[in-house]
Amino acid sequence: MKTLEIGDRCCFCGEDTSWGSDKFVDRISCTTDTETEVFAEGQLRHGYQCAECQMIDCWRCGELTLEYEIFEVEATCKEGLPTTEVVCPDCWTDEEVEKLNA
Ligand SMILES: [Zn+2]
Ligand SMILES: [Zn+2]
Repeated sequence: MKTLEIGDRCCFCGEDTSWGSDKFVDRISCTTDTETEVFAEGQLRHGYQCAECQMIDCWRCGELTLEYEIFEVEATCKEGLPTTEVVCPDCWTDEEVEKLNA
């Protein structure tokens, strides 16, 4: 598949992340084909990901966070599949911090 070069635009929200724009800080280089509001599914594009689009909801406090860890948690569903939890640094337990520093 042909990669769409979107230059300084964000691969997710499509906003400009070039120098001088609000979104230049914390942008990261990005290649993705994830479907978003502005990009169709399966459209591989190369550009940047702005900080806002890097942020995700912490599963414990619900706050948007740029920094997070993904922890495996005990399966609670009946299929017994392993499941994961996205957690911001504010919500890490002492035990988890210890594990991360191990
Ligand atoms: Zn974005
Ligand atoms: Zn949190």
